[in-house]
Amino acid sequence: MNRYSWFSVLKEGLTGHKGWPRAWRDPEPKPAYDAIVVGGGGHGLSTAYYLARNHGMRNIAVLEKGYLGGGNVGRNTTIVRSNYMLPYSTQFYEFSLKLWENLSHELNYNVMFSQRGQIGLFHSPAARDAAARRANTMRLNDIEAELLSREQLMTMIPHLDYSASARFPILGGILQRRAGTARHDAVAWGYARAADRLGVDLIQNCEVTGILRQGNRVTGVETTRGTILAPKVGLAVAGNTTLLTDMAGLGRMPIESHKLQAFVSEPLKPLLDYVVAFALPGGHFYISQSDKGGLVFGGDLDMYNSYAQKGNLPVVEDVAGCAMALMPCLGRVRLLRHWSGVMDMSMDGSHIISKTAVEGLYLNTGWCYGGFKATPASGWCFASTMAKDEPHELTAAFSLDRFERGLAIDEKGQGPTPNLH
Ligand SMILES: Cc1cc2nc3c(=O)[nH]c(=O)nc-3n(C[C@H](O)[C@H](O)[C@H](O)COP(=O)(O)OP(=O)(O)OC[C@H]3O[C@@H](n4cnc5c(N)ncnc54)[C@H](O)[C@@H]3O)c2cc1C
Repeated sequence: MNRYSWFSVLKEGLTGHKGWPRAWRDPEPKPAYDAIVVGGGGHGLSTAYYLARNHGMRNIAVLEKGYLGGGNVGRNTTIVRSNYMLPYSTQFYEFSLKLWENLSHELNYNVMFSQRGQIGLFHSPAARDAAARRANTMRLNDIEAELLSREQLMTMIPHLDYSASARFPILGGILQRRAGTARHDAVAWGYARAADRLGVDLIQNCEVTGILRQGNRVTGVETTRGTILAPKVGLAVAGNTTLLTDMAGLGRMPIESHKLQAFVSEPLKPLLDYVVAFALPGGHFYISQSDKGGLVFGGDLDMYNSYAQKGNLPVVEDVAGCAMALMPCLGRVRLLRHWSGVMDMSMDGSHIISKTAVEGLYLNTGWCYGGFKATPASGWCFASTMAKDEPHELTAAFSLDRFERGLAIDEKGQGPTPNLH
């Protein structure tokens, strides 16, 4: 397959764009592979890519029940950052951010990674202390962070409601300049195309309906397109995790499925140069402006368990209220569309990249609503776990058995209430 280049763009531009090859093949599933990754979202596709790129595995397949990128990877609000506090999370997300910084070159695909900076607002002296602590922790870990005063914010983002009577009075913010956004579906397409180029079979419309075991060893999967054998099977199915782990007989998982909605406005002229977010009791909101001009924003979960990819009106009202409280100028902007994804909320708010009790069966889940930014590092570490049958050093602490051993990684300190993480 040809690489994308200035030359190919120029040539196709001059010859009517008739010579572009399809981005990836559409192969029939083989009867057997060396490894199968279930789920053609960001994490499944990046895992397959790094299995091939880092570990030389070529006889592998990604099985996707719908179309590539139709799940959360194509539904999220695209915020990428590494402003974590706890040791394991900090290293993992910073590694991910470094992979993002070279991802378009790595994949030969423009994922439109835009390091425009992310600002978390704070609204009380106590929250300022917490933000200062976070910024200091980040700096101690060699991750840049800046504390901003209200006056600095007023020049950087003039459209916010800075009045003392605002519903969420703004005292300042914490900025990570290297954070930003990326084009979500380009990330899926970029990994898909790059994996296909390395020989990975990407099989769409292929739902896994059963997991085959011989004793305590996985031997393959049943699918809507027949039985496919493999000695290694990795599950990267986000909000559908518990359906798949039930098929494998893994027992009760520390995961709940919740829905999260996202919203996009009509396109506007440039209005917002940063990603802006805040979270406090009674309000949770994040907003950025896409390259097409739409304001992309969201808030809290719908707060009840569901596998449905659509949300409900109370959250629409809540998010619209937060939007108006923060940026009153949005009042006359029309909403273009909104949708929902199914989140894999874990008991401590952190992800799971792990071997399981079944030999050859591996688990990648628990991303809550922050897994998009983890896409490159998740694939890297999960591929390593699958290829070597041992945890990668960056994800060893994120094993499934941490819940049995009482070693939760609870960034928010919320305890085992998945919808609060
Ligand atoms: C509205 C919203 C906003 C978000 N905002 C952000 C954000 O700003 N920043 C951030 O970092 N994260 C964000 N997230 C979270 C992030 O999108 C997810 O954590 C991440 O995309 C999950 O991993 P994935 O891409 O592999 O999941 P998915 O794309 O959901 O992939 C899982 C795939 O598995 C497939 N599948 C399921 N069951 C089967 C089966 N039986 N057989 C075969 N295939 C199957 C599904 O069809 C799906 O394509 C957001 C999520 C949503 C919904």
